[in-house]
Amino acid sequence: MPAVSCSFCGRRKNEVMLLLSGMDSHICNYCIEEGHRVVLEEMRPRRSEPADIKLNLIKPQEMKRHLDQYVIGQDEAKKTLSVAVYNHYKRLMQPKTEDDVTIEKSNIIMVGETGTGKTYLARTIARKLEVPFCIADATVITEAGYVGEDVETILTRLLQAADYNVDAAERGIVYIDEIDKIARKADNPSITRDVSGEGVQQALLKLLEGSMVNVPPQGGRKHPDQRMISINTENILFICGGAFDGIERHIAKRINTRPIGFSGDRRLHESFDREHLMRFVSAQDLKSFGLIPELIGRLPVLTHLEPLNRQALRTILTEPKNAITRQYEKLFAMEGIAIEWESDVLDFIVEQALHFNLGARGLRAICESIITDAMFELPSRTDLTTFTVSMDYVQEQFGKSTWQVLRSAA
Ligand code: ADP
Repeated sequence: MPAVSCSFCGRRKNEVMLLLSGMDSHICNYCIEEGHRVVLEEMRPRRSEPADIKLNLIKPQEMKRHLDQYVIGQDEAKKTLSVAVYNHYKRLMQPKTEDDVTIEKSNIIMVGETGTGKTYLARTIARKLEVPFCIADATVITEAGYVGEDVETILTRLLQAADYNVDAAERGIVYIDEIDKIARKADNPSITRDVSGEGVQQALLKLLEGSMVNVPPQGGRKHPDQRMISINTENILFICGGAFDGIERHIAKRINTRPIGFSGDRRLHESFDREHLMRFVSAQDLKSFGLIPELIGRLPVLTHLEPLNRQALRTILTEPKNAITRQYEKLFAMEGIAIEWESDVLDFIVEQALHFNLGARGLRAICESIITDAMFELPSRTDLTTFTVSMDYVQEQFGKSTWQVLRSAA
């Protein structure tokens, strides 16, 4: 019987201190050590050479033009964001200590109803700049010690988006959604602890402030034995967004007008006033809404997004580079089928989206419910070169889907 030896290096049992046996192979202590070293090396966070750091500095007008191709409307937000992002990355390039002027970081906060393009804007900007980007939901973050995610896991996601390249992550963009949901419940600071609100805001502050944060590379809750990666948040751009439902009342109070109309259709007046009042949103209103002043101070750029009206929704369906109907056209073209949408079908989709008040977010879901059957059946058909989405077809599909049930319940 041959002497037992290491399957990796061939050393025999008497030449090593330890030989572990597997199913039908063996490994010696030397190869285990070598393997361990390789594993550590592979998992080591990578740092790039300073020369490798390329920043895609894009002038505000160019950025705005780029955003125009994807995002409909929201001119004010686009302008504000383009400038803020430009300044942010210029700041990263500022030569060190030439004079006393230091450009400070300008994190951004966006106020606007759901489905109006907040996340989409942030994502489109990050893509254009070619920097790592991640989205985090403020509502799942809790203070350390409570059930939920530690605030550091936001950076874990950014690190993952950067493929564990720490330098790249440190220049990335983080979008924090639903920031309004962690507002303090009442305007006056309470003596009892508010787990859902203020504590989380305090935890977030740590990230926004620009500090070294120890991040668990795989996410999850921190535990003592875990290997951590240090990330400096100083140059990470944080963009926060939220619907801030009801903030118009605070704005109205501040500028001393009535938020609700005096007569006629109450709903109409409410939405009219919300739309107009939102233009005047200020840091003061965010404070009245329940964000702590320290956090507001770290989000110096404030902008708002307009609710999407019928015309904007209709344009979103067909015009932008990545328009939903274009995506379906591409999918069907891959089957050799040209898809055509009748004009009144598009109007109908918009109408439904408005009804559910989901902004542009609803458009896709409604399209899906209309076209799923076709996507199921048509790939198996060989006799078809054109598929027309007609009103008759839509009525038939819509009747079958749960939307109908939802709609009648709404
Ligand atoms: P939110 O404001 O809630 O963050 P999102 O940015 O996630 O909304 O929007 C959801 C989807 O709706 C986007 O992925 C995009 O396809 C579409 N969308 C929203 N707003 C616009 C817009 N203004 N122009 C074009 N598409 C939009």
